[in-house]
Formats: sequence, structure tokens, C-alpha cells
Amino acid sequence: MLPAMARASRATLFATVHTLEHQQAALVADLLREEEFVVGTVSEVHARCGKPGCQCAQGAGHFQMRLLYAEGGRRRCKLVRQADADRVRRAGARYRHLRATLRALAALHARELRLLRALVRQGGLRYR
Ligand SMILES: [Zn+2]
Repeated sequence: MLPAMARASRATLFATVHTLEHQQAALVADLLREEEFVVGTVSEVHARCGKPGCQCAQGAGHFQMRLLYAEGGRRRCKLVRQADADRVRRAGARYRHLRATLRALAALHARELRLLRALVRQGGLRYR
């Protein structure tokens, strides 16, 4: 028989694993939600065009949205058309969110594995 202390901590471990399972399920549901995203980094800059006499030479420059991404191991950059700016901004934000959610899921999973290993270690038959 297990001593009372070990039983209590075992029950606590079970409850914690259960909670972690729920938290992970919520993250997975979020990850699987159909919402447009774009793989890459969306950056918004003001750039000078370099044309002589353009008003941007004095001011902050022309607004530009850029999409940076990797293709075949190389860094690529695309200019985003003004008409697509809102959509691409949202898609970029969703991708950042997905990445953060994956990191959070990995952390919860690692924690759950540590608890499950502890449960297995302390759960076996003490054969004497
Ligand atoms: Zn200009």
C-alpha cells in the first residue's frame, strides 16, 4: 500500500494532468480554426523612393508593406499592394499567433510529460 502522502500527491498529479489536457485541447482547437494566415513576417515601413524632387525626400517616405519569407532556404521579400494591406496584416498577425500557440502547446506538453513520468516512476509495484 502507498502511504497517505504519496496517494495525495498522486491525486494532485492526476488533477494537474487533467487540467493540462484541457488547456492543450483549447490551444489545439485554436490552431485548427480556419483563419487565413501568411507564413512570413509582415513589416510596415516608410521608404524614400529616391526619385529626385519627390516630396518623400523631405517627409517620412512612402508607406510600404513588405512580406518577408523563406523560399528554398533563401530570404525573399514581396511588396504588398495597398489594396491587400489589411488582409495581409491580419494574415501576418494570425501567423504570429499560431507560432506563439505552438510554443505554448509545446511548453504544456513538456510539463505534462514530466508529470506523467513522475506518475509512472512512483506508481509501480514495490516488490520486496
Ligand atoms: Zn518618393
